[in-house]
Amino acid sequence: MSSVFSKIISGDISCYKVAEDEYNLAFLDINPLKEGHTLVIPKKNIDYIFDLDNDSYMSLWFFAKKTADNIYKKIKCKRVAIVVLGLEVPHAHIHLIPIESEKDLDFNKERLSFSDFDFKNTLSLISK
Ligand code: AMP
Repeated sequence: MSSVFSKIISGDISCYKVAEDEYNLAFLDINPLKEGHTLVIPKKNIDYIFDLDNDSYMSLWFFAKKTADNIYKKIKCKRVAIVVLGLEVPHAHIHLIPIESEKDLDFNKERLSFSDFDFKNTLSLISK
């Protein structure tokens, strides 16, 4: 069964696209922990990140680095944190989250409720 992220890659479901290259895609998390919370995914349909072949794995992390560098320049934060969970969506992905403290990484707390206008505003800052 195809995941919601494969449907984003195929264009069947829309996303707030931050950046894209031949092999990877970055888009805003729809239930963000912080403004600028971004997901970076490979276009290959792989569930578990450590099942990626080496080239795809390296490409994903290099793409995540470029995306995080850009987020860090545009969104006020101490660090852009990296988290890999994959418990909800069975398609490999890296969370990039602009944080001020480790409290910002509590995945159990209530997520921010952003409007379409808010997401587009964030995109205007960080999309490439
Ligand atoms: P996890 O699989 O536990 O790493 O979490 C998956 C993340 O994907 C969650 O933070 C969700 O808010 C996010 N998410 C789920 N569906 C979408 C979507 N259609 N667009 C953007 N983010 C999504």
